[in-house]
Amino acid sequence: MTSQATAIVPDIAARADAPAAAADGRQDLLGLTRSEIAAALVAAGEPEKAAKMRASQLWHWIYYRGSRDFAEMTTLAKDMRERLAGRFTVGRPQASRDLKSVDGTRKWLLKFADGQEAECVHIPEDDRGALCVSSQVGCTLTCKFCHTGTMKLVRNLDAGEIVGQVMLARDHLEEWPSPKDGRMLSNIVMMGMGEPLYNFDNVSKALKIVMDNEGIAISKRRITLSTAGVVPMIARCGAELGVNLAISLHAVRDDIRDVIVPINKKYPIKDLLAACAAYPGLSNARRITFEYVMLKGVNDTPADAKELVRLLKGIPAKVNLIPFNPWPGAPYECSSDEAIRKFSDIVFNAGYSSPVRTPRGRDIMAACGQLKSDSVKRSKADILREQAAKEATAAAVPA
Ligand code: SAH
Repeated sequence: MTSQATAIVPDIAARADAPAAAADGRQDLLGLTRSEIAAALVAAGEPEKAAKMRASQLWHWIYYRGSRDFAEMTTLAKDMRERLAGRFTVGRPQASRDLKSVDGTRKWLLKFADGQEAECVHIPEDDRGALCVSSQVGCTLTCKFCHTGTMKLVRNLDAGEIVGQVMLARDHLEEWPSPKDGRMLSNIVMMGMGEPLYNFDNVSKALKIVMDNEGIAISKRRITLSTAGVVPMIARCGAELGVNLAISLHAVRDDIRDVIVPINKKYPIKDLLAACAAYPGLSNARRITFEYVMLKGVNDTPADAKELVRLLKGIPAKVNLIPFNPWPGAPYECSSDEAIRKFSDIVFNAGYSSPVRTPRGRDIMAACGQLKSDSVKRSKADILREQAAKEATAAAVPA
C-alpha cells in the first residue's frame, strides 16, 4: 500500500459528521416499501385516504431525486413537509472513511446507526461502473482465502442499510435525479461483505427498492447476486428477484471445496450445480457466472480446469477467474500467470467465456475478498457493562 494511492477525499470528511439516521427518535424512511411508508404516515396521523398517494410522492423524492430534506419536497403541502420533518428522516450510512485507488476504485467504510461498520466499493469503467454492496457485518462462512471470512458474523444489515449503500454512492457520484443513460453507477454486485442468501429477506427487500422503475431503477439484468452456495435459497432468489446469479465455486472436488469453502460440507458441489441448472430464465444470453479464485497449488491445475468443464456441462455458464487477492496473514498465494493462462485456455476452448478478472483497488484493500471492518460482536454483558460505565460517568459529572 503506497501513501500516494490512498487519499482521503476531503468533501467526505465533512459528511462523516452528519448525524446518524434516526438517532433522535425520528423514523428513517429509507428501506421501507411503499406500503410501509403509507402505514408509517397513517401511524403519524396523516389522513388514511391520501396515504398511498403521499407514499408515492415521497418515493419519488427519496429514490428518484435523492432528496433527504422534506423542505425540498415541493409536491407536498408546506405544513405537511414540516410535520414529516418532525417525525421522519431519510438516512444514509455515515462514510467514516473514503479511499480512492490509483485505478479509480473507491472504497467507503460505512458506519451504521449502532456504530457497526461494513465496506462498500465502487468500481468505475470508462462509461459505467459497478457498486459492490455488503449484506452483512462480518460473515458466518469462514472461506479460507477470504479476508471477511476471518471476521465473525456481527449482524445482518437491514434493508435500509443495504439500499443506503447505493444511495450514498449515488450522492458521491452526483447521480441525482436518477439518470437514464451514462450512469457511473450502472450495475450492482452483491459481492461485498457477507453471504446475501443468509440475509435474503433484507437483501430482497433492498433490491426490490433498487429495481423499482420510479426510483433508482437499476434493472435486474444489471444486478448480480453472488453466493458461496446456500442451495435451498437459490430457487427463491431466482423466483423472487430474477437477478443474475454468481456462484463462488473455487474448487471442483468436494474434498478441496470442503476445506476452502466450508459451506460445501453442507451443500456439496453436485447439489449446488443442480440448483444452478434449475435457476429460472437461464439461456445463452443469460448465464450463471462461476467465480473461481486461483490459488497456487490448491485448485489451479489443468486437471482442475478439465473437471470444471465437465461439471458445467448443460448449464449456461461463464467462468470468472479471479487472481487471489492477498491480505495480511492469508494462508494462500496467487497462482502463476502461466497456470492461470493455461486454466483459462482449457475452459475457453471448451466453449466457455473465461476472462481473468483484473484486480481492482488492491492498493486500498478493496479487491475481491479483501474487505473487512473492525466491528466485533458485543455480548449482552459487554453492552450492559458499557451502559453501566456511561451511567457511572454521568453520575460523577456534577450537573
Ligand atoms: N458470500 C458471497 C458474497 C461475497 S462475494 C460469496 O461467497 O459469493 C466475494 C467474492 O470474492 C467471492 O467470489 C469470493 O469467493 C471472492 N474472494 C474472496 N476472497 C478472495 C480473495 N482473497 N481473492 C480473490 N477473490 C476472493
